[in-house]
Amino acid sequence: MSYTDEVYERVVAQNPNEPEFHQAVKEVLDSLKVVIEKNEEKYRSLSILERLVEPERIISFRVPWIDDKGVVQVNKGYRVQFNSAIGPYKGGLRFHPSVNQGILKFLGFEQIFKNSLTGLPIGGGKGGSNFDPKGKSDREVMAFCQSFMTELSKYIGADMDVPAGDIGVGGREIGFLYGQYKRNTGLYEGVLTGKGLSYGGSLVRTEATGYGLVYMLNEMVKANNDTISGKTITVTGSGNVAIYAVQKATQLGGKVVAMCDSNGYIYDPNGINLDVVKDIKEVKRGRIKEYADRVEGASYTEGKGIWNIKCDIYLPCATQNELDVDGAKVLAANGCKYIAEGANMPTTLEATNYIMNNGIIFMPGKAANAGGVATSALEMSQNSARLSWTAEEVDAKLHQIMIDIFQKVDSASKRYDMAGNYVVGANIAGFEKVVDAMIAQGIV
Ligand code: NDP
Repeated sequence: MSYTDEVYERVVAQNPNEPEFHQAVKEVLDSLKVVIEKNEEKYRSLSILERLVEPERIISFRVPWIDDKGVVQVNKGYRVQFNSAIGPYKGGLRFHPSVNQGILKFLGFEQIFKNSLTGLPIGGGKGGSNFDPKGKSDREVMAFCQSFMTELSKYIGADMDVPAGDIGVGGREIGFLYGQYKRNTGLYEGVLTGKGLSYGGSLVRTEATGYGLVYMLNEMVKANNDTISGKTITVTGSGNVAIYAVQKATQLGGKVVAMCDSNGYIYDPNGINLDVVKDIKEVKRGRIKEYADRVEGASYTEGKGIWNIKCDIYLPCATQNELDVDGAKVLAANGCKYIAEGANMPTTLEATNYIMNNGIIFMPGKAANAGGVATSALEMSQNSARLSWTAEEVDAKLHQIMIDIFQKVDSASKRYDMAGNYVVGANIAGFEKVVDAMIAQGIV
């Protein structure tokens, strides 16, 4: 059995009931086979892969808080500090009822390679809670965030571990978390990113993941002598990543006709009116369904199936495994040409394989959505230097980082004779820097 298969089997045996983690590890190890085989003896002797798939540390804790009725609620809190070979742990916090240790391990593992691809000095981590902010009052969200940070603050720091937002953690939650960190530690430092502009945030961080995704898409279409302009686009989700992907894709001349939330999807043949979506989602915290009541000519469909809408470009920006092979078949049959993942692992392994075998150009999330964490690292730089850059400066750096990532991914795929296989390219390019640092730092 190959070294990569052996390690994969070990991961499945030692981490039961964590299917998303297994899936993320499998995709990476399969891609790395060609690299590992060239130097197998050395990697085996150092147990590089065994160390790579084992988090350096997982912190798991109780989060008690009191709801508006005076009832004590208890949630689970976690921080997975996966790999610090190339920098302090960096990765978001997710608040969603589906959160468990396996989901956070998959996200933390992906983060290692993503952060490496950015070229910036950040290691991989992820955290969160099974708390659901949906339907909670601001006071309840604050009570939860304060309790969560009271425990988490013992394990993070500006040079140790710097969390950010993710699903269910936006500007409001980061503000409450930051306030409590400062209160507990007395430190006014860049311990979180995605902060408000009045207390150390970076311009363009809010937009960065969505903008970065479209900058990456632009490189993909350019490499195929094509343009975003004039293309019909579907974007899934209607949260942070989706909204700013729609904004940038529209600026570049694309026409986004569909978006969704976890209840259903909207179709607007005239092109999505983003001001309406922002008002529903960012201001009123409502449901996407309301769009169809407010915009003439738009329709709403309850449930899944957004992939049935014909598009040239599909940008999944909601959550893991949202697109399965049946959806992928419909997209291919309807002539979809490009898929770039805004979310983390939104495409099942089977769907990814179908997409790549059926002529759709595909960019995995660890490369395509790296603009968010890259801009978080730019926020860390500004905090350390006690400076603020202009929006133009940050956007220009973000744009260049995405171009560089595309080139790294593209050239790694070519180096291993798999031109156009950006899954392999991203995993190899991400791995090379991390493994080099791990070897240099000895057995730790
Ligand atoms: P948000 O919480 O802002 O938005 C998530 C969106 O996805 C919501 O519209 C939500 O709908 C929808 N959604 C969630 N689950 C489902 C589902 N099962 N089916 C359909 N829609 C669903 O999160 P973000 O935009 O921040 O994150 C989206 C994805 O991007 C995640 O995978 C995240 O890990 C990834 N990502 C985020 C980064 C960031 O900077 N924010 C950086 C890199 C990656 P509803 O409101 O109904 O739950």
